[in-house]
Amino acid sequence: MSTLLKIHHKFEFWSHVRFSERCSHLSVPKGHQHYIRKPHEKGFKKGSVRVSSTLLELVPETKKENLEFELPFYDSSKGLLVDLAVVGGGPAGLAVAQQVSNAGLSVCAIDPNPKLIWPNNYGVWVDEFEAMDLLDCLDTTWSGAVVYIDENLKKNLDRPYGRVNRKLLKSKMMQKCISTGVKFHQAKVMKVVHGESKSQLMCNDGVTIQASVVLDATGFARCLVQYDKPYNPGYQVAYGILAEVEGHPFDVDKMLFMDWRDSHLVDNKELRGRNSKIPTFLYAMPFSSNRIFLEETSLVARPGVPMEDIQQRMDARLRHLGINIKRIEEDERCVIPMGGPLPVIPQRVVGIGGTAGLVHPSTGYMVARTLAAAPIVASTIVQYLGSGGRQDGSELFEGVWKNLWPIERRRQREFFCFGMDILLKLDLPGTRKFFDAFFDLEPRYWHGFLSSRLYLPELIVFGFSLFAHASNSSRLEIMSKGTLPLLNMVNNLVKDTD
Ligand SMILES: Cc1cc2nc3c(=O)[nH]c(=O)nc-3n(C[C@H](O)[C@H](O)[C@H](O)COP(=O)(O)OP(=O)(O)OC[C@H]3O[C@@H](n4cnc5c(N)ncnc54)[C@H](O)[C@@H]3O)c2cc1C
Repeated sequence: MSTLLKIHHKFEFWSHVRFSERCSHLSVPKGHQHYIRKPHEKGFKKGSVRVSSTLLELVPETKKENLEFELPFYDSSKGLLVDLAVVGGGPAGLAVAQQVSNAGLSVCAIDPNPKLIWPNNYGVWVDEFEAMDLLDCLDTTWSGAVVYIDENLKKNLDRPYGRVNRKLLKSKMMQKCISTGVKFHQAKVMKVVHGESKSQLMCNDGVTIQASVVLDATGFARCLVQYDKPYNPGYQVAYGILAEVEGHPFDVDKMLFMDWRDSHLVDNKELRGRNSKIPTFLYAMPFSSNRIFLEETSLVARPGVPMEDIQQRMDARLRHLGINIKRIEEDERCVIPMGGPLPVIPQRVVGIGGTAGLVHPSTGYMVARTLAAAPIVASTIVQYLGSGGRQDGSELFEGVWKNLWPIERRRQREFFCFGMDILLKLDLPGTRKFFDAFFDLEPRYWHGFLSSRLYLPELIVFGFSLFAHASNSSRLEIMSKGTLPLLNMVNNLVKDTD
């Protein structure tokens, strides 16, 4: 196999880069500038993506697909005031829009591409979707997962995992939105101006939409919410392909949660050195013996690992595993900001999803947590705006932010940020020891940690338990690398009162 990934590309490069496209301009987080190749740069051919001078010429067949819906549009000529304007039609925005509209309030959902099927390949733990009665929105489930700590140690995780059928989930949400009366506006919001009792949203098509409440659900673009502290997250960076392959070595009944093996890099000193300092792992969802989603992932790093580096590691790994790609159905370039400060709480614009800091700071997961948080945001908006009794606007937005981020959740997030700070410092041997101990914990601990179900008192027990399960060398490492983040966390916990 001379070139693993060399298949025709029909998809815009920029549409894959799903981060930090704040309202009116594209801003790239520090540390990522070096791997974004602009179309006019040398080496960039129209319709293809040259990523590096190695074997990798990624030219996947992905195309944008729209849902077949007739959308009821917001009539901008009437300039009607809506109760809620939802900016962003991802899982977060639609989940709130449908629930607020269902309670009889008027809702306008604004997105540049409201019919576009979401591009991300979402994976979730099955119990998370079961708890929300969303099992029908998983298109594939695996009875468990596996983790390779290294060449000699494999762990079986007895927890079913599923892939979200994003077309079905979005269709369901859109149908509910349509049937409950949500109106859509296809545009990008550029700016918000707040008056005493209403806000005005200026869109890039010249339309202004007036709303009593504005919800920013623009994901990591964080279009409208304000921050008063420097935004300094870690970044999860991953490159994934859904591919038809000649074969693969994985059990189709299990998903591969993490493969930290590095024997594929034995002959490449430079890559091995880089991987040893900032390791990446393979995440894979095998659908059949010849169809599989493969994703090389840097769990978290600051600055993020360049995409080319990730792709080179993946190329080497797939060759080593003898995985020959026949066709790429779709690819995803994933950049997830993790941790960092929360937006100002409270503030006039309310938020949910990526924009409101809901991403798990130690794992990058969010979709289940966001869908579970949507009823909290929706019911608070309905409580304040509903039944004709319009209350003081400040009570509403204070209520939403308070209910979304009560003190227990803020403390939990602080602990997860502490977890991220430790992960940021671990090299490959340290990471292996960490996950060896982590997946040896009682399931309620590691399940609870990954699914944001543990609160501070349990998280402290979790921390001690992890420490007790760690090897002596790992304990020393956690102590030396974790002391500063620990003090930082304690300091933040003490400062943050209700
Ligand atoms: C590639 C990738 C893979 C991921 N995989 C997983 C996973 O497997 N499991 C998991 O739990 N989490 C995953 N995540 C994390 C997270 O769940 C997703 O990012 C999720 O899509 C966030 O949902 P959201 O609704 O907050 O934002 P998004 O899904 O990003 O939706 C934001 C919407 O806002 C729109 N928008 C942006 N700016 C404007 C504007 N100015 N005006 C109007 N609209 C605007 C965008 O067009 C978009 O439709 C992944 C993230 C990425 C990037």
